[in-house]
Amino acid sequence: MGGAAKTRIVLLGPPGAGKGTQAKRLASELGLPHLSSGDILRAEVGRQSPLGIRAQSYMDRGELVPDALIIEMIASRIEGAEGFILDGFPRTVAQAEALEGVASIDVVLNIMLERGEVIRRLTARRVCSDCGAIRNLASEGLDESASCPSCGGTLSQRDDDRQEVIEHRFDVYTEQTAPLVSFYRERRLLADIDGSRPSDEVHAAVLRELTQ
Ligand code: AMP
Repeated sequence: MGGAAKTRIVLLGPPGAGKGTQAKRLASELGLPHLSSGDILRAEVGRQSPLGIRAQSYMDRGELVPDALIIEMIASRIEGAEGFILDGFPRTVAQAEALEGVASIDVVLNIMLERGEVIRRLTARRVCSDCGAIRNLASEGLDESASCPSCGGTLSQRDDDRQEVIEHRFDVYTEQTAPLVSFYRERRLLADIDGSRPSDEVHAAVLRELTQ
């Protein structure tokens, strides 16, 4: 899709709303870098870097990693960039204020999903260890032992996609991240998107917001 006027994009919304799925699709269609703070952190944990070691215990508990660590990690990747898709950052008002000092934002897509649906989706979410695709056992009719429908790779569950951690992550979202909705609404950057619809419809709604 050519001609998107808005290229500095933030995806906001609770865990499981579909930010990652939408961000990946947009990144490939618009040729913009996809910066997922969660993916970057999981890679750091995987290679047990100093940042990964510090972040791991917060992530396992479904808590937010301290602002200072995250702000530095993201700022170094977006300084001077023409465009980007931020997925999972900012997640606190302090992060949003820091972001304002590093880059201007064209639009914040607020992908909304209610608590019960978040829990239903995330308990059934699996990630392919080979191609990175995000799958959903329930909506795709896959059983627990299924392989990735795209590449045949192994599907695994994120450690923080267990029910009690999911519930806590949603509460953390409500307390610490949801205030960003009014933060960005006041700045006239917010576009509300109904995340309960099928992924293709959400994508179409996202594209409409980007070209408006
Ligand atoms: P996600 O993949 O976006 O759900 O992120 C997974 C976990 O990484 C979160 O539960 C947090 O522990 C941590 N994390 C990701 N992004 C941030 C952020 N912007 N600020 C603080 N912690 C984050």
